[in-house]
Amino acid sequence: MSNIIAIVGRPNVGKSTLYNRLTESRKAIVDDFSGVTRDRHYGQGEWIGKTFTVIDTGGYVHGSDDIFEAAIREQVLIAIEEASVILFMVDVTVGITDLDDEIADLLRRSKKPVYVVVNKVDHHQLHHDATVFYSFGLGEIYNISSMTGSGTGELLDDVVQHF
Ligand code: GDP
Ligand code: MG
Repeated sequence: MSNIIAIVGRPNVGKSTLYNRLTESRKAIVDDFSGVTRDRHYGQGEWIGKTFTVIDTGGYVHGSDDIFEAAIREQVLIAIEEASVILFMVDVTVGITDLDDEIADLLRRSKKPVYVVVNKVDHHQLHHDATVFYSFGLGEIYNISSMTGSGTGELLDDVVQHF
């Protein structure tokens, strides 16, 4: 498989909402394979004539915070292996958490292109708050609202350049 976009990030940042928007299908592919497979949804998307596969990581198993963190870490490492492009999603209304920092550390060491996607930028005033995410040192940030779709076109314009 090629042209694979993986969406990673801690729970509740809006990964599945973006996945649904990019794939235009609410069909969650859930099967009885390993826990890892169960935690990943695959869908097809298309933008300006280019087709791609989107992976939504993380219908994480509920458990202790340690299990949570380990599961997220595992999903990020698989994404680094498997994806052509990684979307690292964070939440402008929350800011940078310890878990965000841990994910950023893993991604910084990867050779794959990483896009910092700042979600829930629903209003213009929130663009200022989003600038804190430059401190990851992962380059440009993409402010989007998965809910309204604002900013997703600009993100995809750049992401599909890799395909
Ligand atoms: P996930 O755990 O990362 O997959 O996050 P979800 O996609 O399940 O979203 C978590 C919550 O954030 C849900 O209540 C969504 O409706 C909400 N959400 C997702 N995207 C946005 C957004 O762009 N703006 C706002 N205000 N809420 C959002
Ligand atoms: Mg989800």
